[in-house]
Amino acid sequence: MKKSPGWEKFASKFHDKLKEVMLPYKNKTLQTARIKEIIEKVNDFRGQEQWIYPSDHCINHTNKGACYCAETKNAIFEKKSQGIYRVL
Ligand SMILES: [Zn+2]
Repeated sequence: MKKSPGWEKFASKFHDKLKEVMLPYKNKTLQTARIKEIIEKVNDFRGQEQWIYPSDHCINHTNKGACYCAETKNAIFEKKSQGIYRVL
């Protein structure tokens, strides 16, 4: 596979839909496994679930390939501890 020049754009491509999907869980603290379950139920994400991580959309955490929202007020999650996220 050719290396993509836009990893950030790649994570960002899921942002709007993920934001919408997580809206009913606002202010809830969820484990990654639970978030993955929610993601797996979304038709638009079918076949791409493995690319969608809460850690890419965190207000207090970033990593290689994170979404444009990482460490900004547009973030979807706050990382509480390893594998635990609060929905913003
Ligand atoms: Zn994002």
